[in-house]
Amino acid sequence: MTNNETAQLLHYKHLYINGEWVEPEDGGMLDSIDPATGKPWAIVAYGGKRDIDKAVAAARSALDGPWGKMPGHERAELLRKLADIYKRRAPELARLESRDSGRALRETIPDINAHSNWYMWYASLCDKIWGRTIPMDDSVHIYTSRLPVGVVGAITPWNAPMLTTAWKLGPALAAGCTVILKPAELTPVTAIVLASMIEEAGFPAGVVNVVPGYGQNGAGQYLTEHPGVDKIAFTGEGKTARTILKAGADSLKKFSFELGGKAPHIIFADANLDSAINAATSSAWAVCGQSCALGSRVLVEKTIYDQVVDAFIKRQTQVRIGMPLNERTHMGPQASAEQLAKTMSYIESGRQEGADLVAGGSQPKSQELADGFFIEPTVFASANNNMRIAREEIFGPVAALIPFEGEEEAIHIANDTTYGLTAGLWSQDIGKAHRVAAKIRAGMVWVNTYRYIRWTTPYGGFKASGWGRENGIEALDSYLETRTTVVSTTAQFQNPYND
Ligand code: NAD
Repeated sequence: MTNNETAQLLHYKHLYINGEWVEPEDGGMLDSIDPATGKPWAIVAYGGKRDIDKAVAAARSALDGPWGKMPGHERAELLRKLADIYKRRAPELARLESRDSGRALRETIPDINAHSNWYMWYASLCDKIWGRTIPMDDSVHIYTSRLPVGVVGAITPWNAPMLTTAWKLGPALAAGCTVILKPAELTPVTAIVLASMIEEAGFPAGVVNVVPGYGQNGAGQYLTEHPGVDKIAFTGEGKTARTILKAGADSLKKFSFELGGKAPHIIFADANLDSAINAATSSAWAVCGQSCALGSRVLVEKTIYDQVVDAFIKRQTQVRIGMPLNERTHMGPQASAEQLAKTMSYIESGRQEGADLVAGGSQPKSQELADGFFIEPTVFASANNNMRIAREEIFGPVAALIPFEGEEEAIHIANDTTYGLTAGLWSQDIGKAHRVAAKIRAGMVWVNTYRYIRWTTPYGGFKASGWGRENGIEALDSYLETRTTVVSTTAQFQNPYND
């Protein structure tokens, strides 16, 4: 890069540790690549081991100091302030996230506009964290108290950086924990901007620290190994989770894992077909296919299979691929060259395994998009559940349309997967809808809708899709410990050795 080109990049030169903007001690500067152009657009500071040490020490002293002593209603006030600031700055965050991740602005705007609800709702829970009394007999008085787990390392992925942050930060702060946030190295910018909101809201120093960095052999690994971190809240790939689990084993941390998915999206012949097609196409291709919740296995009842394939092909031609910041763009690029190559290799495997590529499968021809990581929305017909495109998480806009016959087969195919994060089903027969929903092994089942996720709705996976739940009361619980206190009402304790 020439000096002139470097000067045009946005510079984020500091980490946010202990309420201060500091230069990395043993990290450095990384280029954040704009996936629409393949070129750097920002230079961002990243942390090393000493920076993580500093951040953990700051988080610990905030926990032992002002934050740990702050009553719930005051924590609530700070979270509400953060929610207000977040709402005001959501348009700026949406543009930055589109630039950093490549996700189209028409997706990031509504998504990020909604995030303040997470902070606001968890604010409302801060002063409602209490235990219970447990009746036994009149010789004891027993009660439980709920306490923050402690220092939390929050490690987030690149596909929805601000959403996955809100899912962790909201409940962690409501519970009274302190946090070190480590965003993905591909998309670090919005987390740094969030740190400026934390500062503006007036949280005490050290309550939230933001240290961008690498995963393996970087800030992520140091956080997971650090004996001063009590819990790792992680969203990302299953294989990373396994590495993290081993790294955290020595210090026996708590973990929550939000991992991948390979959701079945079942369309029965008696569905409201227009809505089912709208949901199935958009939820196969949203975020350029890079979301854990997407329905990439579309299971279609045989009697309507050809009709659904035709509808997918037609809809595919309506998707406008383009620059993420253009408000007309439906689909931006994949987030990285690596992700694009991975998607292309799955498309090749689909072809080789005998699925019928009926739409997409290539990079768009437009000259404007030539340097970016763009890919057409893709449809495979005649797919079956043994193919790699149906078994493995592609994280690209690739729909595998799989025919089935009857309720039992739909349930069998839906559950024939190592994942269990989300699932969707479409039927106007209410009895059947409930029967099938009850048999699906997934943490979230949508009936006659798809991707409905709110701050109140617990979200997380069965099987290889994760441990624990984000959102709702369940997420708050995961940042709390329970202490049981037993008080004798007589203060008498017999000597067991005097016989
Ligand atoms: P990833 O596992 O590669 O990286 C996630 C984060 O972990 C990044 O911040 C990365 O730097 C860090 N990391 C990597 N190696 C590490 C290590 N050894 N120690 C500590 N940290 C490390 O995942 P990704 O590619 O960024 O994200 C895509 C994955 O995330 C997909 O599998 C997707 O399904 C999953 N995801 C799940 C959910 C959910 O809620 N279930 C939501 C979004 C994404």
